[in-house]
Amino acid sequence: MKPIVIFLFFILCSSMSVFGQSKETLNLEISNLKAQVQTLDQKNQELVVKTATLQKDIEFLQRQIDELKAQRLASPVPPASNNSVPSGYPTVPSTQQAPPPPPPAAVKTTGQYGRCRATTQKGTQCSRNAKSNGFCYQHDGV
Ligand SMILES: [Zn+2]
Repeated sequence: MKPIVIFLFFILCSSMSVFGQSKETLNLEISNLKAQVQTLDQKNQELVVKTATLQKDIEFLQRQIDELKAQRLASPVPPASNNSVPSGYPTVPSTQQAPPPPPPAAVKTTGQYGRCRATTQKGTQCSRNAKSNGFCYQHDGV
């Protein structure tokens, strides 16, 4: 054998071994990647299931929102104002219900000679009608 042939054979053997080692490394990486892909696939499937569950929840909530909207449309009572009469409540006709306006106080309580000028025991002016002397029958002559 010539030395060059031995050298070439050595080169070939070493390159083959290097190639084999790199191939094993590649196979290892490929298997690792496959495992990662499987893990990601599992996680993806879990997420798909979760997404479906969330979509069902969203649909359920959307139905509830629609029902609440329909209920509000059926009875549009503003919850903030408690004093307002509900729309379904029968309103009394104004001609029947309206009380007559109170007459002016002077006409009602004061007589021909005005109000009694005497002061009561409470310290307020007497509310009775006065006679010609400016006092009521009770404070007359006081
Ligand atoms: Zn009086």
